[in-house]
Amino acid sequence: MNDYQLYIDSEFCESSDGGRFDTVNPATGEVWASAPAATEVDVDRAVRAARRALVEGEWPTLTATQRGRLLSRLADLVTDAAHHLGEVETTDSGKLAAETRAQSAYVADYYRYYAGLADKIQGDTLPIDKPNLHVFTTREPVGVVAAIVPWNAEMFLTATKIGPALAAGNTVVIKASEEAPAPLLEFARVVDQVGFPPGVVNLVTGFGEPCGRALTSHPMVDKVAFTGGVDTARHVVANTAHNLAPVTLELGGKSPILVFDDADFDGAVNGAVAGNFGASGQSCVAGSRVLVQSGVHDRFVDEVVRRAEAIRIGDPLADDTQMGPLATQAQLDRIEAVVAESIDQGATLHTGGCRPEGLDAGWYYRPTVLGCADQDVRSTRVELFGPVMSVLRFDTEDEAVAIANDTEFGLGAGIFTRDVSRVHRVAGAIRSGIVWVNTYRAISPIAPFGGFGNSGSGREAGVDAIHEFTTTKTVWINTSTEPMSNPFTIR
Ligand code: NAD
Repeated sequence: MNDYQLYIDSEFCESSDGGRFDTVNPATGEVWASAPAATEVDVDRAVRAARRALVEGEWPTLTATQRGRLLSRLADLVTDAAHHLGEVETTDSGKLAAETRAQSAYVADYYRYYAGLADKIQGDTLPIDKPNLHVFTTREPVGVVAAIVPWNAEMFLTATKIGPALAAGNTVVIKASEEAPAPLLEFARVVDQVGFPPGVVNLVTGFGEPCGRALTSHPMVDKVAFTGGVDTARHVVANTAHNLAPVTLELGGKSPILVFDDADFDGAVNGAVAGNFGASGQSCVAGSRVLVQSGVHDRFVDEVVRRAEAIRIGDPLADDTQMGPLATQAQLDRIEAVVAESIDQGATLHTGGCRPEGLDAGWYYRPTVLGCADQDVRSTRVELFGPVMSVLRFDTEDEAVAIANDTEFGLGAGIFTRDVSRVHRVAGAIRSGIVWVNTYRAISPIAPFGGFGNSGSGREAGVDAIHEFTTTKTVWINTSTEPMSNPFTIR
């Protein structure tokens, strides 16, 4: 049993009242670690430590190049620890080890990218409309950043926040998810080896109430970077009424994948399978509405069903497993309920819709394909965060775009076609932050990531993310040999 500790002001510590919570291995349903339940007092200590580090001591005196070097060192240490961090993430969240190990290694590239950007954050010199004034702008750190992450890709979603935040000179308090806190608690041990000045990076674990609420409403927090569900985001935004901190929101999705008759058939099937069954469908960019043109629809459904039924489900740590369990019992219960409701509403169950035989411990669910006549079926509307593909038929391009845009969300979209003109038309018409053409789920530190509508606001990754964590300062300098004139003397 691993008993983790909070990381505040470069010290590992218990919560102020000694409270802890257990964390469960989704593959077995058994408790395997415990984490401190941070109180308002702990959150206050962490934010004050971050605030001190922002204005006192070594951190504000470092050059941008020196901050970049620290991030490079963090990247190297994450690379060294990637295998271990991946296995911890798998044990705590149930995600496939093959995926978490690779993702942990790739996370290091996000820190490398922002290490390189640290000393390329610059302002402008302005051709001001008045004589004898030199006016320039600088990009300043916003201040203390609260980084709140969900359970499904904690290492990665932390990097997309603290990478740019630290590169720009901010200090951070990270809040891990109560569902799977262990990867970030291990990450804190890595951070501790980097040599950041005390208080620059802090980590708290705990529940939305009080920990998340106390952090996002804290008067010394200057910026909130949040990834999670839409309902939680509403609480977070309400909390920031107290500190008026700007908020970046990376929320859920119900992303469409459009498959046209002329598409490369195997590529489109692979896109739909990756978009729905990769990470057991527990991905914000899951392409969980698959829109298929009539000419290829029936053949496409037959093939995705064949592929779904061939997926090897089991222990996420085993090398030959292709799909692991869901992260929580509550997730499994919700998915079962929505699939049952959708079938009642007339959806056709092509495959799945139940737990796999022989896997009674843990929260496993079979890859499921539902045929849906229209978007009155519930599975086409709500984010399920599980391996459930809803397939809809369309005849024309206009019809496909209309169905794709008929959603509260707008995170990702996939287009499978060989027609380059159509690619431009459809990519332009779809309201989503990311469009993948003849591919799906690709990400990079270099490419901005974020959504339209209820999928969020602001962008993570790329240079855009630096803008989220900096604010403009404008400096006016009198260059005249004369002193400033008397304001009450009109010349
Ligand atoms: P969640 O919204 O339940 O929790 C996210 C985080 O918010 C957790 O750390 C939680 O403790 C915290 N929280 C809860 N109540 C809070 C409050 N009142 N104030 C402040 N913080 C609070 O999400 P989840 O179930 O852990 O994760 C799944 C969701 O995350 C899905 O909707 C998914 O689409 C989304 N997600 C989005 C992206 C993206 O980049 N767009 C990536 C991954 C996941």
